[in-house]
Amino acid sequence: MFGLDGKTAVVTGAGSGIGRACAVRMAQAGAFVIGLDLDEASAVETAQMTGGLGVGVDVSDSDAMEEVFADVASSRGGIDVLVNNAGIALDLVAIADTEPEHLMRHLEVNTLGVLNGLRHGGSRMNDGGAVVNTSSVLGVFGVPGYASYATSKFGVIGLTKVAAVELGPRGIRVNAVCPTTVDTPMLYSFPAGAQEAEVFGDAATLGGIVDADQVAALVHFLVADDCPVLSGLAIPIDKGITAGVSQTRWDRGAS
Ligand code: NAD
Repeated sequence: MFGLDGKTAVVTGAGSGIGRACAVRMAQAGAFVIGLDLDEASAVETAQMTGGLGVGVDVSDSDAMEEVFADVASSRGGIDVLVNNAGIALDLVAIADTEPEHLMRHLEVNTLGVLNGLRHGGSRMNDGGAVVNTSSVLGVFGVPGYASYATSKFGVIGLTKVAAVELGPRGIRVNAVCPTTVDTPMLYSFPAGAQEAEVFGDAATLGGIVDADQVAALVHFLVADDCPVLSGLAIPIDKGITAGVSQTRWDRGAS
């Protein structure tokens, strides 16, 4: 059940956090995993954990991505699973103070990076394959200061839905996962990480945040062939934060 034997999987942002957890979990399920990351050393470290390959590449560089996907497809005979996960979160800025560069940097990595994966990886995928793009709950709702990040993550959901429609005739399903705060290195490098973890944890109906292995479990479910009927979805993995107002928050009243 949920075996990935014989499948070739490509994961971006595989050197850390969610990407590494996805790479390790899919390798444990039998996939040969090629992990891509801006930081080549960390991608290679992940490959030592998976028995696959680690490659250094910037997901926002279209030419470099095309070269990597062409190499992978020719050496492996196509791609079965693609996880477009690499991303960044810069400092929070109110819309009134948001410089164009701040928005563009998020779009380049978080949104163009996914487009490059879909463009160069999607066309080289075997029929019946599966793609998962990492969006965020910030691709579902807004929070003060997150305009650039949220815009880039809402864009990932748009790409997911259009890719699902375009790749559907080949039996390739495309979904997005939308995590709440995840306990990864990004949480600690992101300037507002501690505040986000506390506020989102409080707002979640189940309380608290999630960990990278829990996101990897959802990604694994989506790419396995056991239930190949889901496509075009943006699935919150969020401890119920999108369900509504949490009991904790309600009980605290207006204070
Ligand atoms: P992380 O910082 O632990 O890992 C991100 C990886 O992406 C790093 O290894 C980094 O080197 C790589 N990367 C960054 N820019 C790149 C580029 N231009 N090209 C190639 N690789 C690049 O963070 P994470 O928490 O594992 O984040 C993974 C994804 O999950 C991101 O898209 C992030 O936006 C999203 N996400 C994270 C959280 C969270 O709270 N951690 C919540 C929701 C969504």
